[in-house]
Amino acid sequence: MDLGIAGKWALVGGASKGLGWGCARALALEGVNVVMVARGAEVLHKTVDDLRAETGGRVQLIAVAQDITTVAGREAIWNVAGGPGKNYDIVVTNAGGPPPGDFREWDRDAWIKAIDGNMLTPIELIKATVDGMAARGFGRIVNITSSAVKSPIDVLGLSNGARSGLTGFVAGTSRSKIAGQGVTINNLLPGKFDTDRIRATLPAMAQKQGKTVEEMRAIQQAQIPAGRYGTAQEFGAICAFLCSQHAAYMTGQNVLADGGAYPGSF
Ligand code: NAP
Repeated sequence: MDLGIAGKWALVGGASKGLGWGCARALALEGVNVVMVARGAEVLHKTVDDLRAETGGRVQLIAVAQDITTVAGREAIWNVAGGPGKNYDIVVTNAGGPPPGDFREWDRDAWIKAIDGNMLTPIELIKATVDGMAARGFGRIVNITSSAVKSPIDVLGLSNGARSGLTGFVAGTSRSKIAGQGVTINNLLPGKFDTDRIRATLPAMAQKQGKTVEEMRAIQQAQIPAGRYGTAQEFGAICAFLCSQHAAYMTGQNVLADGGAYPGSF
């Protein structure tokens, strides 16, 4: 299927690895020019070089090594040489998730950091780009959130809270005037995907339960109806579809990608 977005410009946050990389790669393979953001310059540049090789130089790929959750980081994105300024056709909002813990230990600073990263940053990115998209008659915004928005996890209170705020904002804004101007805003909710984030949390979980990391992996995967973690490539393909011409009639949705883990009908 031709997604009909070749030649467009996309901004993808958290794109040096994991789910953001999956989205950036899927878009680039569809002929989209991508500005890829992550803090660590070395990994980001290697990722961009690899993708440049994979796409055979057919698209423009620009690395911006910045913290997307800061004002300075976002200014650097808007001003990057060769980029489209704020004139993006596609924006995939993404950065790291907040740490797990006990809400009794989180002070105001912990909450502000989580809200900044997982609610206010996506809102700032939407604010900067959405009116231009509407004026040009095409726009796709995909926010990478979490299955925890639909099925909250107790130790992820910072994530549950901050992402729920974004979800509420998107529910209203996606249905505003921009819906009639060719702009869609959707949230893509990962369940468990085989990325560094999952790999980083497994050892502590395994130790807590007296299991090996491999045993812990097997236990987690057995709890997923699909019987496995998802891959970043699968996630990217869903993201690219949501960014396609074909998804023009889908807006304000919370799209779960979790191998069937969420047990509800809706
Ligand atoms: P990951 O593999 O750890 O990758 C995170 C990416 O984001 C990296 O490229 C990282 O690079 C970048 N990043 C982190 N903080 C950033 C910042 N402030 N500014 C710019 N880039 C930043 O994580 P992932 O698994 O892809 O997760 C992506 C998002 O999905 C997270 O919010 C996570 O909580 C959420 N999620 C993931 C899963 C899962 O199963 N994987 C499940 C539910 C929700 P640098 O560190 O170099 O900046």
